Amino acid sequence: MRHVRLCALLALGLALAFAFADAAESKKARCCEKAEKAGKTCDHVCCIEAAKHGKHCEKCGGKN
Ligand SMILES: [Zn+2]
Ligand SMILES: [Zn+2]
Repeated sequence: MRHVRLCALLALGLALAFAFADAAESKKARCCEKAEKAGKTCDHVCCIEAAKHGKHCEKCGGKN
């Protein structure tokens, strides 16, 4: 049973880590994240423009 508890703790820790990562200042826009996962770059004009300045598109939900 000790093993199960350890796994639960690990899962909780991971969930917390993700929550903190989500609350981080800098965040990619959903569309850009999706494109990146597909091995591409986002083709939105606004996102490309933001990327040129080394930023994430705020119009699409990104944060800088
Ligand atoms: Zn985008
Ligand atoms: Zn955009």
